[in-house]
Amino acid sequence: MGAGASGLTAVKNLAEHGFGVDCYERETGVGGAWNWRHDRSPVYASTHLISSRPFTQFPDFPMPDDWPDYPHHSQLLSYFERYADHFDLRRHIWFGTEVVRVEPVEGDRWDVTTRSTGGYGPERTSRYAAVVVANGHNWSPKLPRYEGLEGFRGEVMHASSYKDPAQLRGKRVLVVGAGNTGCDIAVEAAQQASRCWHSTRRGYWYAPKYVLGRPADQVNDSLLALRVPLRVRQWLYHWTLRLTVGDLTRFGLPKPDHRVYETHPIANSQLVYYVGHGEISPVPELARFHDRSVELTDGREIDPELVIFATGYLPRFEFLEAKVLGDDEGVGRPRLWLNEFTAGHPTLAVVGLVQPDSGVFTISHWQSVLFARLLRLRATRPDRAAAFAKKVAAGVGERYSGAVKDSTRHWFEVGHADYLRAVQRALDELEGGR
Ligand SMILES: Cc1cc2nc3c(=O)[nH]c(=O)nc-3n(C[C@H](O)[C@H](O)[C@H](O)COP(=O)(O)OP(=O)(O)OC[C@H]3O[C@@H](n4cnc5c(N)ncnc54)[C@H](O)[C@@H]3O)c2cc1C
Repeated sequence: MGAGASGLTAVKNLAEHGFGVDCYERETGVGGAWNWRHDRSPVYASTHLISSRPFTQFPDFPMPDDWPDYPHHSQLLSYFERYADHFDLRRHIWFGTEVVRVEPVEGDRWDVTTRSTGGYGPERTSRYAAVVVANGHNWSPKLPRYEGLEGFRGEVMHASSYKDPAQLRGKRVLVVGAGNTGCDIAVEAAQQASRCWHSTRRGYWYAPKYVLGRPADQVNDSLLALRVPLRVRQWLYHWTLRLTVGDLTRFGLPKPDHRVYETHPIANSQLVYYVGHGEISPVPELARFHDRSVELTDGREIDPELVIFATGYLPRFEFLEAKVLGDDEGVGRPRLWLNEFTAGHPTLAVVGLVQPDSGVFTISHWQSVLFARLLRLRATRPDRAAAFAKKVAAGVGERYSGAVKDSTRHWFEVGHADYLRAVQRALDELEGGR
């Protein structure tokens, strides 16, 4: 389900392994989040990749050499369109078709109920031998609650509705949240708005997109390839930041309460620049809203006309009973092994439910390969498939990152090197029975 990066690569890899595949996509085109025409697309006019090109592309489908290190979202869309055409994937995809229910039935099979997007026409249920959930986790806005917010007279929006800098022009803007999107919007507000406040709950490390003349993720990856230990990489990164942006508390930013690599990296070379030029005023967390002003936790009051909550997204799987994904608390946090497999359903895989310190597409590709091989082995070597199922049950909840924060923002965080090694081991075990 889903024809974004993860769904497309799942279709491609399952078809390459000889399976008949149907893919249901609620929108009318491929590309998922990167297709700005989609009503749920989170991209805004200036969205570029945060992970660099070689660390984002599918391993078997490179982006053109003459593209920049950090391509624009429109280039990403054309990349997915070419990927779909090159591997002839569209013939598998039912566009404008939404999955409304996925139910396990006897024999590890699945009844999948679909209907036209928007609820027109009758529902249709088809039975499948296996299901890949690739519905993305960056489309359902997460909005914080504040006392007085309903009575606030200014304009309030979530970052998912922010599309163009014209929305900021000449206004007094408050941007809430220090994820990559929040920082991007704050930088745009610094250039377009008459005033920009940037509210963050805690201190973060704002890493530059380039280090030593190379995209920062490529430098980091060289260190990972050399197996430089985490402590040494943290030390090197602290020094790099000290030599470039220096001590951020000097600008009024809070001191980070964690070491680098312990939370999802924020890659933004411009935020500190605009803070240093007085165009962004860092402020602490919001306490409450009044009629025409916002009170901060330090007691100050500010008077924005527009408040943008760049407070992230929540995963949603309303087509599946929460317990199928092991989400016993029903909070939208599946309990999976390798962020992919459930303990009780060997023919179900979730692809792309990761927040890596690198690109997502490579990870989705290898997750799909692993699932395709597993499905094949269920027929040819059921003993190995059964051993795999035991491994899944024992490994549910394993982490692949040094992340220390347990906020929704870090639920699916993985360190790409550790994670891909774990997938490689799983593939080796499946193939060799080791
Ligand atoms: C601002 C921003 C910047 C980002 N930058 C990067 C980056 O630099 N590098 C990177 O790798 N990632 C980045 N990401 C993460 C991004 O989510 C992934 O790149 C990628 O889009 C994940 O693909 P996906 O297929 O898993 O999900 P999506 O792209 O969200 O695709 C999911 C698809 O499933 C469909 N769908 C959902 N529910 C249903 C249903 N019930 N029935 C039928 N179809 C359904 C949707 O319509 C959509 O087409 C960024 C995200 C944002 C918001």
